[in-house]
Amino acid sequence: MSNTTNNFENNLASVIDAAKKKNCVCVEQEPLRKYTTFKIGGNARVMIFIDNVDALSEIYSMCVNLRIPCFVIGNGSNLLVSDDGYNGVVMKLDNKFKDISPIDESGTLIRCGAGVTLAKLCKYALDNSLSGLEFAWGIPGTVGGAAFMNAGAYDGEMKNVIESVSCILPDGTIQTVDSENLNMSYRHSVFSDNAGIITSVTMRLKSDNQKLIRDRMDDFMNRRRSKQPLEYPSAGSVFKRPEGYYAGKLIEDCGLKGTMIGGAQVSEKHAGFIINKSDASCNDVRELIKHIQDTVERETGVKLECEIRMV
Ligand SMILES: Cc1cc2nc3c(=O)[nH]c(=O)nc-3n(C[C@H](O)[C@H](O)[C@H](O)COP(=O)(O)OP(=O)(O)OC[C@H]3O[C@@H](n4cnc5c(N)ncnc54)[C@H](O)[C@@H]3O)c2cc1C
Repeated sequence: MSNTTNNFENNLASVIDAAKKKNCVCVEQEPLRKYTTFKIGGNARVMIFIDNVDALSEIYSMCVNLRIPCFVIGNGSNLLVSDDGYNGVVMKLDNKFKDISPIDESGTLIRCGAGVTLAKLCKYALDNSLSGLEFAWGIPGTVGGAAFMNAGAYDGEMKNVIESVSCILPDGTIQTVDSENLNMSYRHSVFSDNAGIITSVTMRLKSDNQKLIRDRMDDFMNRRRSKQPLEYPSAGSVFKRPEGYYAGKLIEDCGLKGTMIGGAQVSEKHAGFIINKSDASCNDVRELIKHIQDTVERETGVKLECEIRMV
């Protein structure tokens, strides 16, 4: 073994040791396909399930100091993970990151842990007659991933409801960033360009009639079901919406609907989605993405930029 490999292994062992002392569950060689909606990806060298801010801060800063690659995975619904896996630490937020609580008397200002799913958050909002999150009903992510990506749909986006985000910086310090400093724009936030792990998000919602909220949620969900290939594993829309166009329409107009490479296919139902039709590899999807980008640029002059993130 070379000195570099030796150092890496020793450093990794000390991170695992520290994580276990903080009562975190550590699993070595954990298949990441289990944690992505694409059902694609090799093994994480180690996956650490972390259930409190103190442990997260220690493990994250340790990885940074020891130069061990690391990232936090939400619901893996916007990720394409390499077939070779990830030679580092993948952090998954557990228990304490799954709480939702009102933080003012009106109940419209809520704090939500980064590990809460958007589904749970939307149900909480509905149960409490709070409006503002209807657009997120059906987005299969966590609150941390949605804030990171500024997830949005049907003219709504996280930016419209977020008041502030609490996060851990690479040196382990905890910070709260107000909405005006989050640089949120289309599928982008300050976290897309900088390191940092979101621990909770504070959101301002509006009281509204419960039936109206439910109707809007049902309407959005029905539109998703009718247009999106939800019966297959995918990571949602592969490409960002190019200015003045729709990616799905461009791809369809280029005759690419149904195109397959290996087990990956341009969805017949929605050309903006690539589906894992039959045991697709990451390479199948990457090749298909390249084929789509090249064809669309050649035929229309429009460059398609990936929305999904590569690991
Ligand atoms: C069927 C389907 C439909 C979809 N529809 C939509 C849609 O309508 N609109 C939309 O915007 N997206 C949509 N998506 C994409 C995806 O669900 C969103 O981008 C979602 O917000 C990603 O959240 P996640 O928790 O799954 O993040 P992941 O995919 O796990 O991670 C995405 C990125 O966020 C980072 N991240 C995750 N959690 C944290 C955290 N706590 N702190 C810091 N960084 C973090 C990860 O490191 C990664 O870089 C869809 C996906 C699918 C499969």
